[in-house]
Amino acid sequence: MSKVSIGLRGWRFDEESVLDEDGDLKPMARIPEDDRERVARLALLVTKPCDGCWLVHGDEERRRARQAQVVYGEPLGEVLLCDRHEVDFLYWFREEMGHELAGSRHMQNAFHQWFADGGRAPDGYEGTEHVDTDPEDVKQPGPNPELDALEEELAAMSEEEREALGIDLSDLDV
Ligand SMILES: [Zn+2]
Repeated sequence: MSKVSIGLRGWRFDEESVLDEDGDLKPMARIPEDDRERVARLALLVTKPCDGCWLVHGDEERRRARQAQVVYGEPLGEVLLCDRHEVDFLYWFREEMGHELAGSRHMQNAFHQWFADGGRAPDGYEGTEHVDTDPEDVKQPGPNPELDALEEELAAMSEEEREALGIDLSDLDV
């Protein structure tokens, strides 16, 4: 079964779980529960700035932050990164304590702390194609389908409807 990314690189899904025959994203209710939260969060995360840029520039200069290209971590504890800062995350994940937090929502905080304390990948550190958090990991395809339809679907839902689908977006502005 092939894997796809949606909107951002990083999180991957079984193609037939999240896409219909035309390659479009399925409606939320038809997406398996296990994938639903990540897919829903992606619709909102896709327009967020990179965490590294945000930590460097702060809120006042938010517009200088580059848009995130990749997401790592768990829902509600995501780390969002632009292409330039992804290498810092990969370094932290592999060489520092990052990998110990795979699967934990604490990853976001721990990475932010390390980065805010000046943690960076050494010059010339090579980020390869992926972080090995998934035993059947394969080379990342580019993010595939568009998320606009999902964004509209989510915006049109009431909080109760989202809750019924098991989607927690409480920390994001919908
Ligand atoms: Zn960045």
